[in-house]
Amino acid sequence: MPHKISENTTVYIKTLGCKVNTFDSSALANQFTREGYTLVDAPETANISVINSCSVTANADKEARYLARRFKRQNAETFIVVTGCYAQTHSENLVTELDIDFIVPNEAKHRLVELVKVHPRRSPAQPWLEGTENPKLPQGITPVKNNRQKHFKSSVTIFDHADTQDKTRAFLKIQDGCNGFCTYCLIPLARGASRSVPRSDVLHEVKRLVAEGIPEIVLTGIHIGDYGADFLQDKNNSSQASSSPNSLESLLREIKLICQNRTRLRISSLEPNEASDELLHIMANNPMIFAPHLHLPLQSGSDRILKLMARKYSCDDYYERVLATRKFLGDPNIGADVITGFPGETELDFAETLEFIARCDLNYLHVFPYSKRPSTVAARLPEHLSPHIINQRRQKLTQVSSERKKNYWRKYIGKEMPVIWERKLDASGYMTGLTANYLTVKVRPLTKAILPHGTLISIKGFLNDDALLGVEA
Ligand code: SF4
Repeated sequence: MPHKISENTTVYIKTLGCKVNTFDSSALANQFTREGYTLVDAPETANISVINSCSVTANADKEARYLARRFKRQNAETFIVVTGCYAQTHSENLVTELDIDFIVPNEAKHRLVELVKVHPRRSPAQPWLEGTENPKLPQGITPVKNNRQKHFKSSVTIFDHADTQDKTRAFLKIQDGCNGFCTYCLIPLARGASRSVPRSDVLHEVKRLVAEGIPEIVLTGIHIGDYGADFLQDKNNSSQASSSPNSLESLLREIKLICQNRTRLRISSLEPNEASDELLHIMANNPMIFAPHLHLPLQSGSDRILKLMARKYSCDDYYERVLATRKFLGDPNIGADVITGFPGETELDFAETLEFIARCDLNYLHVFPYSKRPSTVAARLPEHLSPHIINQRRQKLTQVSSERKKNYWRKYIGKEMPVIWERKLDASGYMTGLTANYLTVKVRPLTKAILPHGTLISIKGFLNDDALLGVEA
C-alpha cells in the first residue's frame, strides 16, 4: 500500500559527482515537488533522503555508503534511497547495507519518484535469497555485483527544467551515457548507452532559460560530442557526420539563434576528436554567444598509454585539434583531464605527458589519480603502480596546472572584460564572477551594492592563486 503523500512529506536530495548528476538531482527535485512533496535541505528533517551517487572512483563509492549510515544515524526514520552510478554498478553490494532502504539504478532513475511513491516503506519480512528479485530494488531490475553487468540500452534519460536558483548559470543536460569504453572507465556501464535528449526538449528549455534572463547556459552531458548519433542510428544505423541535421553542430546552430547576444553559451567538455572544424567555426562566428573556453580530455601525452586506454585519438590528433581551436578562436582557454598512474605508465610515459602538455600549451588541467574500477579492462592490466608513485605524479601535474593557469591568466592583467557574477558579496565585500574565457575575478563594488551581470571589469592583478582582482572599468 503506497504511503500517503502530503506537503508534509519531506525529501532531501544529496548529489555526488559530476554536473550531469547535479542536473539529474534538480530534475528529481522538480518531479518530487510536482508530486506534492516538500524539499528540505538536511536529512534530519527528511522523510525521504535520496543519495544521487557517483562511482568514478573507489572513494566515491565509499562516500555514498558513509552518507547512508550518517543520514540514518541523524534520523532513524528517514527512508534512504540510493540512486546514481554506484546504484547501477553495485546494487547487489548495496542491498546488504542495512541503512539503505531502496536502490534505484540509473537505468530506472527517470522512474524514481513514481517508484518511491508506491514503495510499501516496510522492510521485507523474509531475508533476501541471492538470485531472486530483491525488494530493495525496483521490480524487474537484476542486482549487479561489482559492476558485472551488460551495457544497458535505453532511449530515455531523466530530464526536466534546469536548476536556476542562483540565477547565474544553468547546467543543461543534452546527452547521457557513453559507448566509448575507455579501458579505465566504468561510466558506459554506469550510465548505459549514449542517448540524446530530444532536440525539441533542449530547444524548449533553452528558450525558457533565455526568457528567464539566465546569463549563462552550460551544455553538459557524459559524451556530448555524440549528440544525435542515437537519432540517426535509430533511423538507418549508419554513422553520423557532423553536418548531419541531428548532430551537435546543428543543435548549436539552433541554440545560438535563441540565445542571440543575451545569453552566454559554454560547452562543458568535448572529446578532442569531436571538436570539429565545423563546430569551431560556429563558435568563432558567434563570439558574443560562445564562451572561448574548451575542455578537451587528454588523459595521457604518451601514445603507448593512449592505446592502452583505448582513447580514440593519438597525440598528433590531439595537438592538431588544439591548433585548430586556437586558429578559430584566437586565445581560448583550453583545459584538459589527465590521469596519472595508469597501469604500466613508466617514468618515460610520464615525461612524455609533461612534454606534450607543454607542446600543446594547455592552460589548466584536471588531474585524476588512476583508480582501479571493477569490470574495466584496465583493472585486469598488469603493472599497477603504487599509490605513492600515483600520488607523486598527481602532485607534479597539479603544480604544472597551477603554473599554466597563472601564465594564461597573467595575459589578461590590464585588460577590460565583461563578467557574469557567480556569488554575491562575500564576507570580505567581494563579488566573484567568471569571464567568458573562464577567468575567476573578484571585485569590490564601488558604484552599486550589487553589480549587474556583464559589468565591464578592468583586471588589475592576482588577488590570490584562485582569483584575479578587478575594478569596475
Ligand atoms: S568517453 Fe571514455 S572516459 Fe569518457 S565517459 Fe566515455 S568511456 Fe568514460
